[in-house]
Amino acid sequence: MIISERKTDEELIQVVAEFRKLFLVGCAACATACKSGGEEQVFAMQEWLAELGKETTGSVVIDEACHIPRAGRDLRHHKAAVAEADGLLVLACGSGVQSVSSSTDKRVIGGLNSLFLGNIRRFGQYEEKCSLCGECILNETAGICPVTNCSKSLLNGPCGGMEEGKCEADRERDCAWHQIYERLKKQQRSGVFDRNVPPKSWSKQGKPGKHKV
Ligand code: SF4
Ligand code: SF4
Repeated sequence: MIISERKTDEELIQVVAEFRKLFLVGCAACATACKSGGEEQVFAMQEWLAELGKETTGSVVIDEACHIPRAGRDLRHHKAAVAEADGLLVLACGSGVQSVSSSTDKRVIGGLNSLFLGNIRRFGQYEEKCSLCGECILNETAGICPVTNCSKSLLNGPCGGMEEGKCEADRERDCAWHQIYERLKKQQRSGVFDRNVPPKSWSKQGKPGKHKV
């Protein structure tokens, strides 16, 4: 899930300054789960904008704001309210903002900051486990990603700074390579360390990513 959070009041005041009437867009998927862009947050945003003297012409929470045809369809369903607005304020990740901006000629503002692809530990607590590097090596690292979990994204074992299983960059955090080693040992696969992992090909992470099935 894409983890996002609402921009600060100071940031939002700045971005909405030149708009008098806004149409609000939320996302029923990740931004709803993160409580940054669901129905509740769209309603709260409407109230907050009213305090600033801004009018909301209407709102919609798109099933998945990153779904370009759905974003276009939902905006068409609110054609009059969208037309009446000076701009659209989108409470979705950057991907959702761009689905919306590709579906209208109106100015589109993002109200959230997109943080990372996150796993859910429990409600409201998210952890980054994968950086979408395009060349997954989890099969060799006992299912723990060193690209994301090692502070230096090392691929061939721990740096010299690991101490009692803790990372030198942050002593509160476990060293990813210590965890990988311990798990491989339990699986009797420590031999994996005998081979040298070649330098990573970051070309697989080429931007912008495109994929067809
Ligand atoms: S190796 Fe790459 S694709 Fe695999 S979990 Fe780590 S960042 Fe994600
Ligand atoms: S201590 Fe471990 S997690 Fe921290 S940078 Fe070194 S190898 Fe990576």
